[in-house]
Amino acid sequence: MTTCRACLGTDLYMFLPLGNHPPANAFLTTAQLGEPEAAFPLECTACLVCGAIVVADQLPPDFFDDYVYVPSASDTMRTHFRAFAERLATVTGGRGLVVDIGCNDGLLLRACADLGLASVGIEPAANIADLARATGVHVVNAYFNPLVASRVRAEHGPANVITTTNTLNHINDLHSFMRSVDLLLADDGIFIVEVPQAIEFVAKNEFDTVYHEHLSTFSVTSLAKLFGFFGMRIEDVEVLPIHGGSMRVSARRRSDAASEEPQVAAWLERERSAGLFDRATYDAFAERVRGIRANLLEMLQGLRAEGSRIAGYGAPAKGNTLLNYVGIGPELLEFLADRNVLKQGTFSPGMRIPVVPPERVLESMPDYLLILAWNFADEIIEQQTSYRKGGGRFILPIPQPQIVG
Ligand code: ZN
Repeated sequence: MTTCRACLGTDLYMFLPLGNHPPANAFLTTAQLGEPEAAFPLECTACLVCGAIVVADQLPPDFFDDYVYVPSASDTMRTHFRAFAERLATVTGGRGLVVDIGCNDGLLLRACADLGLASVGIEPAANIADLARATGVHVVNAYFNPLVASRVRAEHGPANVITTTNTLNHINDLHSFMRSVDLLLADDGIFIVEVPQAIEFVAKNEFDTVYHEHLSTFSVTSLAKLFGFFGMRIEDVEVLPIHGGSMRVSARRRSDAASEEPQVAAWLERERSAGLFDRATYDAFAERVRGIRANLLEMLQGLRAEGSRIAGYGAPAKGNTLLNYVGIGPELLEFLADRNVLKQGTFSPGMRIPVVPPERVLESMPDYLLILAWNFADEIIEQQTSYRKGGGRFILPIPQPQIVG
């Protein structure tokens, strides 16, 4: 990588090589266990111009044709998207068209439809697009590009709102994506992005949120620069508690040369104070991550040595970055319990730990559950009442390995 995919700057600093990793969502079937797995270098690089944290794109272009992440497996995300749909109903006054790019299983658009909003979803994964269609949502099964944007506009008219949640961080060619947004968005339309944010990433040691599909962790500065190429200005930044610290950033076209909104200027200053443009910040981050690796491995091996049984809770993509980087295999974790039926019956990429339904936790009663889906830790600990009452305890890997409950 020689240029930042957001600001096109060239002052890139590779600060944390994580080793070779298979694609984090490439869960294996039993039949695939006999085959070798493709693995690619995973390296965290910071753009010292805009504070984006970027990873080189290594995946084949058709990777998202078939996909395994669905937010509907989580109560937190269902609540989140219902509230977001209510916000969109207010923004649009209940009229106009909402286009959601990377609509996944249609959770947001279903909530929009329930509020009477017209909507179109765009989703590259055919299997996931079918899930969305099954809920009655209109979905275009395609990668979002200028051609698709023009087609949707010709058929449905310009979009009054374009939303994209937890998708921009998957996009390699951000400038082509933004050209497509520019083509589809009405002149007075609003573009709303939800993405994990860089300050939280650094502060909470969230190295495991880096994987080959998560190509970027954005700062507000990086989005301001990216949108600026397309005559768009940020008008609002809202902090969201999901995915370990995200933000909802709204932007509109602005032709005048007015100065930044005060709120945006405050964010830029906050990012400067947090050291997002300094090498030393990332050196310290890398040092802390190496500490997490050593401490977590020592903790798990120590528990096993004293006869404790451990399993993982959640089989999220980031869990695979963590497991593969730290070197945690089935000798330490008996299984990974996950509510997502698309993952059940498979094996985690790289470490090949079996993924099972959550019911297995109570059947098997391991002494500890390592919470790999730590962004849903509160929801998981809350759900696992019987496990807790039976003496089960939880291990959180991030921001520092610790035993809770
Ligand atoms: Zn940049």
